[in-house]
Amino acid sequence: MRALKLYGKQDLRYEEAEKPQLKKPTDVLIRVKAVGICGSDLSRYKKLGPYVSGMVWGHEFSGEVIEIGEQVKHVSIGDRVAGAPCLTCADLDVEECYYCKKSEFARCENLTVIGARHGGAYAEYIRLPEKNCVPIPDSVDYESAAMIEPSAVVVHGYYHTNITAGDTVVVVGCGNIGLLSIKFAKIFGATKIIAVDIADEALKMAEEAGASHTINSLKEETLERIAAYTGGLMSDIVVESAGSPITSAQVFAYAKKGGGVVFMGIPYADIMIERFYFEKIVRSELKVWGAWSCVSAPFPGKEWLTIMSLLENGQLELKSMITHRLKLSEGPEIFDTVTHKKPEDNFGKIMFFPEEV
Ligand SMILES: [Zn+2]
Ligand SMILES: [Zn+2]
Repeated sequence: MRALKLYGKQDLRYEEAEKPQLKKPTDVLIRVKAVGICGSDLSRYKKLGPYVSGMVWGHEFSGEVIEIGEQVKHVSIGDRVAGAPCLTCADLDVEECYYCKKSEFARCENLTVIGARHGGAYAEYIRLPEKNCVPIPDSVDYESAAMIEPSAVVVHGYYHTNITAGDTVVVVGCGNIGLLSIKFAKIFGATKIIAVDIADEALKMAEEAGASHTINSLKEETLERIAAYTGGLMSDIVVESAGSPITSAQVFAYAKKGGGVVFMGIPYADIMIERFYFEKIVRSELKVWGAWSCVSAPFPGKEWLTIMSLLENGQLELKSMITHRLKLSEGPEIFDTVTHKKPEDNFGKIMFFPEEV
């Protein structure tokens, strides 16, 4: 089969790969129909390189089941599924860790994602444990289903918070996770959603996603604008989804007293927090939540079922976030293009269709 393999930093190749086979009786083989580029893939491409050189890469996907192991019970050949990409102790043939015993799968000590140390989804076929397959209803298309994973990351993050209908939410960073944070803030009942970014194009998408106010932090004083939009109170919940060391240090000032900040971005650098900002945690009695991964119990968790039902009943729309639809063979070029993009270039969700050659 054809696949995209990451060999090193900025070394992605489209080439032949061994077609995966069922290994365990609970395994399922899936023909990949749609697979999206994740923000973490871009960081890995740019700065970090692969976990294992030459591994078939990618983890946000949907597809059709084409083969099942003899003990598979809940998935049938021909089923359309979204893939939960997380593998935990149970999948890795190691003794269950403390957190797996507590069914806190996002905290598993051995948590890994397909495309890291196991074959990923930038490929024609992928093997997955049955329990990682979430059936999709007929009315939900493969593209939307491939975006359930990043949506589940966001919903998992909000589940940690005490977001309440009527809240004000500030979202800092309007990449894909930021845009999804805006969409779900609305679904969770936020009435005022303030989006912050440095690119006007991104803020336009934020508005389309449901932001009621936007702030370009290069042109405007963010703190002042948030104060103006909230009558001086600031925000109930602040989402850090830029993953920037600068914004990660400043977000504490955007929350109201007793409010909270949820970190969904990963700054790959040290963070220096000025006293003014750090003191807000103490003086404003803030809550600070870290959010990791996209799964809970029963695996893969309420995140997945909630998003599926929101897609089915039309309350959630994801396809408008897709700006590029490509063949897998165009992978090396698009990763290079995004890495060297100019600030005014806008890339939303980039989706591959491995069946198209
Ligand atoms: Zn992802
Ligand atoms: Zn574990």
